Amino acid sequence: MRNRTHRSGSEHFVWRLRGSGGELMRRWFFLFPSWSLGTRSKVDYSYCSIKSIRQEDIVAKKPKQIAIYGKGGIGKSTTTSNISAALSVAGYKVMQVGCDPKSDSTVTLRGGEYIPTILDTLRDKKNVKTEEIVFTGFNGLYCVEAGGPAPGVGCAGRGIITAVELLKNLRVFDEFDLDYVIYDVLGDVVCGGFAVPIREGIAEHVFTVTSSDFMAIYAANNLFTGIKKYSNNGGALLGGVIANSVNSPYAKHIIDDFVDRTHTQVIEYVPRSITVAQSELQGKTTIEAYPDSDQAKIYKGLAAKIAAHTESKVPEPLPGQELRAWAASWADQILAIETGEVRSAGSGI
Ligand code: ADP
Ligand code: MG
Repeated sequence: MRNRTHRSGSEHFVWRLRGSGGELMRRWFFLFPSWSLGTRSKVDYSYCSIKSIRQEDIVAKKPKQIAIYGKGGIGKSTTTSNISAALSVAGYKVMQVGCDPKSDSTVTLRGGEYIPTILDTLRDKKNVKTEEIVFTGFNGLYCVEAGGPAPGVGCAGRGIITAVELLKNLRVFDEFDLDYVIYDVLGDVVCGGFAVPIREGIAEHVFTVTSSDFMAIYAANNLFTGIKKYSNNGGALLGGVIANSVNSPYAKHIIDDFVDRTHTQVIEYVPRSITVAQSELQGKTTIEAYPDSDQAKIYKGLAAKIAAHTESKVPEPLPGQELRAWAASWADQILAIETGEVRSAGSGI
């Protein structure tokens, strides 16, 4: 097992302690990192004796695995990379696995650089080594891209299936002693491959990124159908919805109403922000480029909520017709919310 040489002895010890006391202290450190660091010498570790740590507690570490789904272009990779970066800054060991044929999930964790994908590497050679598919990024976090088929050939979900198998065979999760593995998965393709992290129960918790746009909500509702389908067979359950690009009151109302009707919850509202665009243009996450910005604080808060999250649920997707009727009912309401003006459906604006 690798050592965490970047930590002091006492911090290292806290991270290694797996009991409820250790978890509590770790959470405290994550939620109030600056406080914890600033007063490190005052923290009393004496009550937890080194002798009380059992060997199996140290060895049997299992990373928390999280999958983040959503429609293409909705902000999955941006949100996922900022969550990964925030968790890493808080002291966790994180691996981000891009599962989108676009293969750009981890670019802002690597200064704008693309990494070779698992599928491309496997095309060139049979025996692949860990260092040929796992690359380090911002703050030492690990980056993997599953990759996709050549355009027009094969199934787009193949990359995920292959990536998951290979990471397992190479025992990557054991080797890197990870706290979190976060899968960034394209969610608008209805293909078996994309359901793998859910179906196989690889991810313990699924989160979905959506805006208030109908197609994004449609993709989230499809994801809920997939989660519900596998929920009785050990499939992953839903942790919640990350509401992205929420800048107007009506957007918040629409998403709130959708989560109510589907028996889910919003875990965080993330505004559309120019800071995100500025960071992306520098090839960085907002956590790296503007760590003290309001947007970085929101991503840190979101990461803290995901770290603390334990109970995921089975969502109740809306049947197709109902989803359309629900969407139509919002056509008049959004105008009323924004302008106070009420017009009948079909009258246009
Ligand atoms: P996906 O991974 O879902 O395909 P991306 O994360 O690549 O989507 O985001 C698509 C575009 O939207 C990117 O240019 C990204 O910078 C931008 N974007 C996403 N979320 C935000 C946000 N909250 N504020 C500003 N821009 C955003
Ligand atoms: Mg992406």
